[in-house]
Amino acid sequence: YKDVYGKGKPIDIDPRDRKLSFSAIKVLASRYLLKDAKTWRFKETPQMMFRRVAHAIAEAEFVYCRNKGNSDEYCSEATKFWEEKFYEIMSDLRFLPNSPTLMNAGTRLGILSACFVIPVRDAITTPEGDGIYDAVRAQAIIFQQGGGTGFDFSELRPEGDIVASTGGVASGPISFMKMFDANTDVIKQGGKRRGANMGVLHVWHPDIEKFIDAKSGKLKDINLQNFNISVGVYDYFMDAVIKKSKVPLINPRRTNVRPDLGNDSRFYIISKARHYLNEDWVQEAILEELESKGGSIWIDETVMVTIDEAMAIAEDKDAIVKYEDASKLFEKIVRNAWDSGDPGLLFVDTINRRHPVWYLGKINATNPCGEQPLLPWESCNLGSIDLSKYVYIDSEGMPRIAWRQLAEDLRVIARFMDNVIDVAKWPLPQLEQAIKRTRKIGVGVMGWAYMLIKLGIPYDSVDAIYLAYHLAEWIEYNLALASIELAKERGSFPIYDSSKYKPTWLTAKPLEELLNIAGIKDRPSKKVLELLSDRPLVNWNYIEKLRKEVGMRNATLTSIAPTGTISILAGTSSSIEPIFAVAYERHVTVGTFIEIDPLFLEYLRKYELDNADMIKLVAERGSLSEIPFVPRSLKTLFRTAHDIEPKWHVLHQAVWQQWVCAGVSKTVNLRFDATVEDVREVYILAWLLGCKGITVYRDKSKAQQVIYVGVKM
Ligand code: ADP
Repeated sequence: YKDVYGKGKPIDIDPRDRKLSFSAIKVLASRYLLKDAKTWRFKETPQMMFRRVAHAIAEAEFVYCRNKGNSDEYCSEATKFWEEKFYEIMSDLRFLPNSPTLMNAGTRLGILSACFVIPVRDAITTPEGDGIYDAVRAQAIIFQQGGGTGFDFSELRPEGDIVASTGGVASGPISFMKMFDANTDVIKQGGKRRGANMGVLHVWHPDIEKFIDAKSGKLKDINLQNFNISVGVYDYFMDAVIKKSKVPLINPRRTNVRPDLGNDSRFYIISKARHYLNEDWVQEAILEELESKGGSIWIDETVMVTIDEAMAIAEDKDAIVKYEDASKLFEKIVRNAWDSGDPGLLFVDTINRRHPVWYLGKINATNPCGEQPLLPWESCNLGSIDLSKYVYIDSEGMPRIAWRQLAEDLRVIARFMDNVIDVAKWPLPQLEQAIKRTRKIGVGVMGWAYMLIKLGIPYDSVDAIYLAYHLAEWIEYNLALASIELAKERGSFPIYDSSKYKPTWLTAKPLEELLNIAGIKDRPSKKVLELLSDRPLVNWNYIEKLRKEVGMRNATLTSIAPTGTISILAGTSSSIEPIFAVAYERHVTVGTFIEIDPLFLEYLRKYELDNADMIKLVAERGSLSEIPFVPRSLKTLFRTAHDIEPKWHVLHQAVWQQWVCAGVSKTVNLRFDATVEDVREVYILAWLLGCKGITVYRDKSKAQQVIYVGVKM
């Protein structure tokens, strides 16, 4: 405040800024609040930052309003109206957009989205700008402004393969990845954030073993430190693991059938023809295409092949390098994930089966933390609601959920997120073109663990799972309504096709099915059914009718991000994760913090246990499970990530995923003594439950981790 208001002026702290925790202020001061380039003094307070963002994002309103022929005066009023709404939800910390929006909105920098996927074709550069070094350039530009990038490296020819133009040998995807990694190291010095990447290699690639080993064993604290890596696996692969059969490794370059086709189309065909033909929806789509286009498969808007060609591509003997035991590869994957956290898995079939605009092509990669499966050049802006702020105490002293207020806020949020796409400045034309055809947005949640604690529901309980499922449905429902409403006002996203569009709500698995797969026999308690009885009814038939009549403004609506930073700002638990520890040390770019969970402290006070000895003991252990004199109810409510059995972690991810259009970022945190077998079970369960990907992290398995539990004070 001194910095902003200058010397001599009385310091009048905005009461809303007083709600921010010490860590929140530290984080804001480090990179979010604008500073004067010369004096390095702050130019804004946190409230001024929220105002800057609200103002910048509301500007889109003015343009839409004017385009409809309204007067300037009227449009200024309307813009102001929405600016106030946007400011209110942010300053009350009920909703926060992803970091790039907070950092860049209303400034010279234009990237407002956190998630990007960049194509990497098998060429040094290409005229279209999607070769290897074009991708390196795109990555640098995106990092500079605080975005994160994901890549599928599967199109790169394997190590040792021929380079025709030089007669040399190819170095393969893993060595190219090192260059992307080094690029990240270089850029982070001057950029907005550290830089984060997702590297994907599909399980059919000949270099897959090398990829699986790239970050484990001796290499784990050395290689590809700015990457999360994931193996892209298909249903046929998981089946082969269970049946212990072999799978082909395919060289993306060696093929004689339709050499004119781009690699991406080729893989699309391979996967469609080889692995998808048994899937009803693809078969239907193909048959429909065959009928309408006279016997050919429609790949995307430009490429067509005949069904015979497709089968020939799928069975192209020249392309198959060898056959490998699926279970051997899988064992390697789970052993390394146990050892170092990498690689995770992406379930490519699940992702594509549930991709609402599947007719644009096949998705092969995600952003760094996995919550956004995207097509080449696509991006997505994220924003998260703090669920814990929607718990209130009724007149009888019982905690309840403010369902209607949540619905109202979601309507404002959808608008905010749609505006972000227009207000952003896109540094590469491909990025602008890709986002503007689908207008994908990703509304997510944080504070889920806090909400459960406030409601008195343990995280590892059927009650929590029941509530998650119905809450996720409520969020998706209200956003669908909001997006339809926006379509009425602003038009549908350009490539919307009401007969092809595949809504998320039509592909959600029933809750009973998920519980059965996980072997959960318990049923919800009366308490949860009562909480749910406050929820107004949803009518998906009505939504479908409206959608077909009116359209949709956004191809995807929901996405659950890790909320690593914005949950600190909001003072809540992150994403849908259980609380990590009741006391912990947090390592972030700006320093190390020792923190006691504030909600936990509140409860200790309630029980008059907030004495120094108790706090010291808890901080040393990190968890309450082994501490005497702590009431049982407190122990069950404050069970931490490591106290909770892996199965519950996966279930939470899976139930939220059912109503989420994009993906769910979640880490299944395992105790140090977890076994390889535990990891195997988690990976298989995640696939069976319909997750789009899965990651584990075993405590202390790496030399450096962001948060440590159990600190000696
Ligand atoms: P935040 O809380 O800062 O908004 P999240 O932790 O929710 O961000 O992460 C959301 C996404 O933002 C990630 O999946 C990734 O795409 C991107 N991201 C996060 N941290 C970084 C980083 N240090 N550098 C680049 N991108 C990042």
